Amino acid sequence: MKKGPLPPTLKLPSAEEEPSLSSFLSQSGTFKHGDLLVNKNGVRIVSNTEVEAPALIQPSDNQLSLADFDAVQVIGQGAGGIVHLVQHKWTGQYFALKVIQMNIEESARDRVAKELKINQSCQSPYVVVCYQSFYENGAISLILEFMDGGSLADFLKKVNRIPEQFLAAICKRVLKGLWYLHHEKHILHRDLKPSNLLINHRGEVKITDFGVSAIMKGTAALANTFVGTYHYMSPERINADHHGYKSDVWSLGLVILECALGRFPYSSPQPGGWVNFYEVMEAIVETPAPVASPELFSSEFCSFISSCVQKDPKDRLSTNELMAHPFVNKYDDLDVDLGSYFTSAVPSLATL
Ligand code: ATP
Ligand code: MG
Repeated sequence: MKKGPLPPTLKLPSAEEEPSLSSFLSQSGTFKHGDLLVNKNGVRIVSNTEVEAPALIQPSDNQLSLADFDAVQVIGQGAGGIVHLVQHKWTGQYFALKVIQMNIEESARDRVAKELKINQSCQSPYVVVCYQSFYENGAISLILEFMDGGSLADFLKKVNRIPEQFLAAICKRVLKGLWYLHHEKHILHRDLKPSNLLINHRGEVKITDFGVSAIMKGTAALANTFVGTYHYMSPERINADHHGYKSDVWSLGLVILECALGRFPYSSPQPGGWVNFYEVMEAIVETPAPVASPELFSSEFCSFISSCVQKDPKDRLSTNELMAHPFVNKYDDLDVDLGSYFTSAVPSLATL
């Protein structure tokens, strides 16, 4: 695999670029102008070149910087930035480095720092670990756990549809992640969708990018603009009504139904497909919620979908209640091996 120096945006700032002390802001964590860093202990000021490494990377040496990573290749690109595969020079460990270009307004810094702090404090086997965050030269860089299977969106493109027994296993993991975010961390995901569910050859499924849409709101250019897709947004969120945890439950139901159907559950009004995102939003708000057909799926699956995809959030179950839904445990006896399923569909997994 080709390795090389990090792209220009990842270069560490030189000593001359070191901002003055007066540019430090401090509230709910520490924010340093020109170099934001959050570690597992919270948001704090660090030098531009040295940060504390989490034990997983290097137990013996607690210094880590972007310069310790080799860029291997670009593995993804979203609306907000680029994702690189990087390798830690000393341990050989792979990570995903997500670079989000954004200039954070002074007024939004505390909020962004808080989001990053929450992001890094998440520790669950069902949530992608964010080891560290940097902010410099108008870009936030997140060092994330690398998931070698890519996203569920990528996987769906390969397999088209996911059979119920595998879907139940995937759903259980996503629910555990969502339950963790809601009940342990008291945060909403806000952007649950197939590209934010990552998989690996061990059969793990983890949620990523929680809080990223909240962080994006902190940029001047994007202040009132949602970046990403509206497809999985709940009706109440589109309507700008109050939205809460149940908004994520709507998105979960829609994602699971899409995986089962092999297509987005809403159909465009005309044969050529959706013309623009207003049409998608209109369909979500104006038309009845999609259902799973009992002719195609088990009664437990159909019931699970209608427990999530209800237009009135009050009619949806909570993640706590969904954990006990019969669909989630329906195939437990089969001992479904998601690792083999993922690698058989995408043989290139686990080559790193
Ligand atoms: P959007 O910008 O609309 O939210 P997105 O979620 O696809 O779309 P990104 O979050 O930037 O955008 O991710 C782009 C792609 O990079 C993902 O679809 C996935 O394939 C890959 N990716 C992201 N994070 C990781 C990771 N931690 N490990 C492996 N691949 C990743
Ligand atoms: Mg994403």
